[in-house]
Amino acid sequence: MALMRSMLLAASQNVWLRDHAVQFPFVRRSVSRFMPGETLTEALTAARNLQQKKIGTVFTHLGENVTDRDEAREVAEHYLEVLDHIHQANLPTEISVKLTQLGLDLSADFCFENLERIIQREKRDSIVWVDMEASNYVDATLDIYRRALNNQPNVGICLQAYLYRTKKDLEGLLPQRPSVRLVKGAYKEPVAIAFPKKADVDENYFALAQMMLRARSTGTCVRAAFGTHDVPLIRRLGDFVSQHGFSKSEFEVQMLYGIQRAEQERLARDGCRSIVLVAYGTYWYPWFVRRLAERPANLWFMLRNIFSS
Ligand SMILES: Cc1cc2nc3c(=O)[nH]c(=O)nc-3n(C[C@H](O)[C@H](O)[C@H](O)COP(=O)(O)OP(=O)(O)OC[C@H]3O[C@@H](n4cnc5c(N)ncnc54)[C@H](O)[C@@H]3O)c2cc1C
Repeated sequence: MALMRSMLLAASQNVWLRDHAVQFPFVRRSVSRFMPGETLTEALTAARNLQQKKIGTVFTHLGENVTDRDEAREVAEHYLEVLDHIHQANLPTEISVKLTQLGLDLSADFCFENLERIIQREKRDSIVWVDMEASNYVDATLDIYRRALNNQPNVGICLQAYLYRTKKDLEGLLPQRPSVRLVKGAYKEPVAIAFPKKADVDENYFALAQMMLRARSTGTCVRAAFGTHDVPLIRRLGDFVSQHGFSKSEFEVQMLYGIQRAEQERLARDGCRSIVLVAYGTYWYPWFVRRLAERPANLWFMLRNIFSS
């Protein structure tokens, strides 16, 4: 399983596969399990449908490692339009951005300016989430996040439980009253910096989640969101939340579109904050292959699509 995960994560970086695999109909059919479509209109329709089930949404326009300034500016412009659409439609939808899509590889200051424009357009009571990418971007991402949070409170950061450093990073952020989305981590990282065993990642996740919730109860962590589909872990966190006197609406779980739908709906029915991340756009290949790596059984699902019409 670990070997398969490594191979898939290597494939997610492969340029030849990125350019060719996306053209196969069975690959396109498979990705539709994780995305309602490539367009913003399809994402908005999905958000409306989820809203009827009391499920909120976070939109992300797929793309990463942009190396052209105009293209990075266009991404920022796109997000400004998305926010206008969301506000006009009065949807319970936030956005999540990747800093390398906003020009981090070009210049940290340029990337920061793009991020600032987006945060300024967002409502004060909604969060602009910043994704966490591969480990070589963590320092730069945290620097930009701290700068942004200094100016405006409505920005949140994703932290990855598989990294040894994350406990220190979280402790370092708390004095600034961050909003945090905790995930396990989706990239291929060496054992020198990340827990190689899933059981250790899960335990670290639970420990970090408790830190976040304790900080939430004192107002030091403004939003504590748990980005995971791990149902036993969600139940464990739910027990912790109820034992420590939090209201159900303070328990926030974020999942990806199309994964663990029944659990998303159960959380919403129970009065918890259930949120689905809706990805859209044409640059889906690396993101999709990371989804395959998270659960190699998805590969069989994709291969079955070769034979379906
Ligand atoms: C809202 C959200 C935002 C995220 N943002 C980031 C980010 O910014 N940076 C980052 O590195 N990672 C991000 N991730 C991905 C995350 O790091 C994990 O790779 C991913 O969530 C899988 O881990 P898990 O917590 O679901 O637990 P796992 O232990 O991997 O999975 C638990 C169970 O969930 C189900 N499951 C998990 N993944 C899949 C899948 N792809 N297909 C089908 N079933 C699946 C399976 O039943 C599995 O047994 C994000 C995830 C979410 C939900």
